[in-house]
Amino acid sequence: MNTIQVRNPRTGENDYSFEATKADEISSIVSELRQNQASWAAKSIDERADVLDQWAKMVAESGELLDALIADTGRYFICTGEVAQMTKMVPGWRAIGNRVFSEQEPLQSSVPTVTYTHQYKAFEVVGIIGPWNFPFLITLIDLIPALMAGSTVIVKPSEITPRFIKPIQDIIQKIPELHKVCRFVQGGGQTGQDLIDNVDALCFTGSVKTGKLVYESGARNFIPVYAELGGKDPVIVTENADPIESARIILRASVQATGQACQSIERVYVHQSIADQLIESLAEQASKVTLNYPDVRKGHIGPLIFDKQADIISDHIEDAKEKGATILTGGEIEDHGGGKWVKPTVIKGVDHSMKVMTEETFGPIIPVMAFEEIEDAINLANDTVYGLSAAVLAGNHEEASNIAKQIDAGAITLQDCGATTYVFDGEKNWFKYSGIGASRMGEMGMLRFFRKKVLYAQHGETHDINAMGER
Ligand code: NAD
Repeated sequence: MNTIQVRNPRTGENDYSFEATKADEISSIVSELRQNQASWAAKSIDERADVLDQWAKMVAESGELLDALIADTGRYFICTGEVAQMTKMVPGWRAIGNRVFSEQEPLQSSVPTVTYTHQYKAFEVVGIIGPWNFPFLITLIDLIPALMAGSTVIVKPSEITPRFIKPIQDIIQKIPELHKVCRFVQGGGQTGQDLIDNVDALCFTGSVKTGKLVYESGARNFIPVYAELGGKDPVIVTENADPIESARIILRASVQATGQACQSIERVYVHQSIADQLIESLAEQASKVTLNYPDVRKGHIGPLIFDKQADIISDHIEDAKEKGATILTGGEIEDHGGGKWVKPTVIKGVDHSMKVMTEETFGPIIPVMAFEEIEDAINLANDTVYGLSAAVLAGNHEEASNIAKQIDAGAITLQDCGATTYVFDGEKNWFKYSGIGASRMGEMGMLRFFRKKVLYAQHGETHDINAMGER
């Protein structure tokens, strides 16, 4: 028996436990999924989308699922968004699916007598391993396009936030067609490894450290791994930007979800001519942010979901203080009701000798550094092992775009921050350790679940062995 105890982020108490799914159960679930895949793939995109639509509606109406997500994460408003989001995601993937699967005319090859067509053959079983920061939503980013492509799916969410697994499984069970092709299992790292040993392709979202282990396991099993990992997103604010408006945008992008988001702004580089105004406004606005305590439905930000993250945040703040930085707001891990909380922490006087400017903090911490020349800001933005996303706030789009083109990150937002939280259309890859594999956004987000085959049709004369050299 492998019993895992689970901490409640609002009370600090271990009030939930579960048994990790055993390796032989995973093998038998996967062989069941494998048997069911062909009939799922034989359905039309619209038939598969109808099943997912039905699921999304039940998800949106499930109070039990919402309650479990709230208990898992200690927050309310984001959880309501997580369950509502699914109904919005399915129509988009239905449209992409219908585009991908549209009838194709044979294409003329470079050899006059040969035409060709492509066939998309979905991977039979896709594995998904998820993180704790958006336990359900991040799973859906991979799950919906994989199912829509005709793959079957087995999901292992994080052992830090497992309470929602039972209600989601209960809903899946009520839709027999879905239960044949989509299953959730539970457990920690070992369960993740057992899953990787059984599937044909893997989607992983999590830390760089685990991502590297997962990538190695994928290589041993010779399967594609699509890994979305950590970030240390910078924003560059030029001398032509409005400092007060910039502060407003940055506060939201750094602090929403208590900074527990991969695409949170974690570093601010501001031109020295507007640095004082921006920092003053940021500190003033940050000091008005309230905690979802004691009422989970009131206030702006929830507790830290994972207690070990509190240690990392605290370490980064202490390290910055020791090296001469000034904390303007927040700066402490606070205990309320047994949970760990941290208020938005604006820090000035930082540099790249400090962990808070180079390592992923994953909290509502906003270190601000002034620059003189734009080239210096670009070099600082690129001085990182990450390359997930970034943002530029400038006088206009053209100025922002010129700077964005020089930043090594997959998604760069101009004149706002964190567009990948609300737009999923553009394909993107990662730089450095922030990820590897095909884009999870745009059409590629579905195409990555297929092997693309080509069928060459010879319409002319065929040749015998003597003609080999003449082709
Ligand atoms: P984590 O790497 O600790 O865990 C992620 C998942 O991997 C969990 O389900 C865990 O059980 C599993 N796991 C752990 N060890 C494993 C192993 N050896 N083999 C297989 N699976 C294993 O990450 P986390 O702390 O849950 O999540 C936070 C991290 O995720 C942050 O770094 C954050 O930036 C990143 N993240 C990235 C994105 C993105 O889209 N790029 C989105 C959300 C979170």
